[in-house]
Amino acid sequence: MIIMKKETLTILVCPACRRQLTAKPEIETDSELLSGNLYCGNCGIYYPIENGIANMLPPELRDVI
Ligand SMILES: [Zn+2]
Repeated sequence: MIIMKKETLTILVCPACRRQLTAKPEIETDSELLSGNLYCGNCGIYYPIENGIANMLPPELRDVI
């Protein structure tokens, strides 16, 4: 789990393919993304951000606790 400071965006990469992610913010402050998605155009995968925390698990692992 990753706290989504905007400065963190520049170093975040897709865990599957290591390419840079595109932020699709829904709720944001000056310094943090609180809600939205990170999108990998290469994989076509969205990584959700909820309550300022990014869930970087690949989709097939998200339902596994
Ligand atoms: Zn990817």
